[in-house]
Amino acid sequence: MQLVRFAVGDENDRSDEESWGVLTGDGVRDVGSLLGTCPTMWDLVQDWSAMFEQLPHLVPDAPLRAEPRLLSPLPERGKVICIGLNYRDHALETGAEIPTEPVVFNKLAGALCGPDDEVPLPSVSQQVDFEAELVLVIGREARNVSEQDAEQYVLGYMCGHDVSARDWQKGRPGGQWLLGKSFPNFAPTGPVLVPRQHVEDVNRLRITLTLNGETLQDSTTAQLIFKPTELIAYLSQCCVLQPGDMIFTGTPPGVGAARQPPRFLQSGDVCTVEIEGLGKLTNRFV
Ligand code: ZN
Repeated sequence: MQLVRFAVGDENDRSDEESWGVLTGDGVRDVGSLLGTCPTMWDLVQDWSAMFEQLPHLVPDAPLRAEPRLLSPLPERGKVICIGLNYRDHALETGAEIPTEPVVFNKLAGALCGPDDEVPLPSVSQQVDFEAELVLVIGREARNVSEQDAEQYVLGYMCGHDVSARDWQKGRPGGQWLLGKSFPNFAPTGPVLVPRQHVEDVNRLRITLTLNGETLQDSTTAQLIFKPTELIAYLSQCCVLQPGDMIFTGTPPGVGAARQPPRFLQSGDVCTVEIEGLGKLTNRFV
């Protein structure tokens, strides 16, 4: 099952109206329009457990939308937490030691965007880099959750792209990664959110990134140093994880900064992140 959030108005209509639905072979079934109590994806995420059982029965009656404009599966209302250096093979390529606890940073509001959105290359950076990532979405409030219990706090998974301005990430300001990761549209996600019950084994998914059709990252989530359940246990000791929060879980090897010579994004480049079972996330850089 693949959940999507989409704009109700046409492309020229800048209204904020949105709905959510399920992607099927014919198009999108607009489930949100059937439900007065759960018209948006945000409503769904806040009360996901109640809806999960009913959803398969609602889908056949939901109106079909042939080609709606898809938005990021989640709106920008929760936290966007990111994990650095979380693939064994990527930590080795950057020359960093394998971390003994997660490297945690975040992205500021304004960074989130959806599938097919353009990502502007900032005039103040010459080193914009790509990072394919698995993103997990929190479905229940989590405080001090054990690793054994952590999975039930996950609503689902999606593709994400942790776009990174290396010349702002490394060395400035004060060694903080925050600004280099937070330029507008530096956090594409989507196109679909797949509930965890529909992902067979999140710790064995192939993850790739292509740049203009050339594969530059190709690994598996089996290389993750800290698995999703470990991340939830670790983070929930310190902050409250809330429904709708997103956790970018880190990137595999092959990023532009680690290449010889380094390879940074140029205007017109198109990146596609693909994760087994979670669809393809394509964005053009302009
Ligand atoms: Zn990253």
